[in-house]
Amino acid sequence: MKEDHRALALERIERLVLLAEEAWPEEKELSRRYLELAWKLKLRHRVRLPPHLRGRFCRKCRSPLKPGVSCRVRVRAGRMVRVCLECGHLTRLPLKGAKGNRINKRRREDGEDVR
Ligand SMILES: [Zn+2]
Repeated sequence: MKEDHRALALERIERLVLLAEEAWPEEKELSRRYLELAWKLKLRHRVRLPPHLRGRFCRKCRSPLKPGVSCRVRVRAGRMVRVCLECGHLTRLPLKGAKGNRINKRRREDGEDVR
């Protein structure tokens, strides 16, 4: 039962994110309202955002983060750093390579074991 609620909430959140992205930057206020709603849904249903929705909007000002349009993207130390151009908020996301880093670390540890 609860899972159904969450699946439904996620569907609505996804639709709101898409709507918000469509409205940006022509109607910023509307766009932010969509994302505000999406965020409230997320909190109310205590859902975790799937990776494709995570980082699609600014957590501080609720603006959609479109690379080159509303945010600046940098990659540093295996992390993607996004700067919201609306409020200057930083979002850090680990990249796929982050997993590789862990493997490399394990290899190093293995090497130490051999010695
Ligand atoms: Zn922002």
